[in-house]
Amino acid sequence: MSFEQLSFLYQLSQLDLEIDNIRKKAAAIDPGNKIVQQIREQQLVWNKHQSLLDTTNARIYELEAESEKINARIKQDKQSLYQSGNVSAKESENLEKNITSNEHRLGTIDDEMLELLDKKPTLETSAKTEKSKLENLKADLAKHQKEVRILQDTLKTNFDKLLQQRPSIAKNIETHLYKQYENIKRKHHDTGLAILNSDKGCSMCGMHIPEKILDSLDNNCIIQCESCSRILMKLIPNSN
Ligand SMILES: [Zn+2]
Repeated sequence: MSFEQLSFLYQLSQLDLEIDNIRKKAAAIDPGNKIVQQIREQQLVWNKHQSLLDTTNARIYELEAESEKINARIKQDKQSLYQSGNVSAKESENLEKNITSNEHRLGTIDDEMLELLDKKPTLETSAKTEKSKLENLKADLAKHQKEVRILQDTLKTNFDKLLQQRPSIAKNIETHLYKQYENIKRKHHDTGLAILNSDKGCSMCGMHIPEKILDSLDNNCIIQCESCSRILMKLIPNSN
């Protein structure tokens, strides 16, 4: 194998490694799954707090309406009791009983209302806090997704650029050598070439290369790594 051929093969291999590197980077991009999960959890937390506040408000509204009705009834009963002269003793007794019982009910309504009004500001604050946490997470996701789109576009542009360069290098390589390289590359998805590193090992799989094979390399024969089968190259040619 001539030095020139090796040099082109090396250039092609470097290009393929870059292409593979981009592919791996693109595959490793997090589309925001972690934030999406956080949003789901925070939505539940906010729902819980908001629903507590809603229930409290609904109960306050209910108590107000009930209180209004009872007050009207008491007023009516008192009017019947004191302003009308033609009420029997039995009716008077019933009216007084009703008034007492309704006033007692008003008392319990007031107690419950006070308790709810006391709790309400805390519930409002926590619902607001949890909602703002949720909104922040949603903003984080939007920001992350925008960054992902930019990164994906950049990777795609670089990928296309490298892929375009490939034929101009490949055309310089003898057909049989190119086919051999491609066959090996297909198995590994990255490159079909490996460099003999300073420890006399394969740069791609780390396999130690026996001395007798190293001798063949000196004689410019095409040698493949016994472990990963990539074409072995001894020196990195000056590839400008
Ligand atoms: Zn190897």
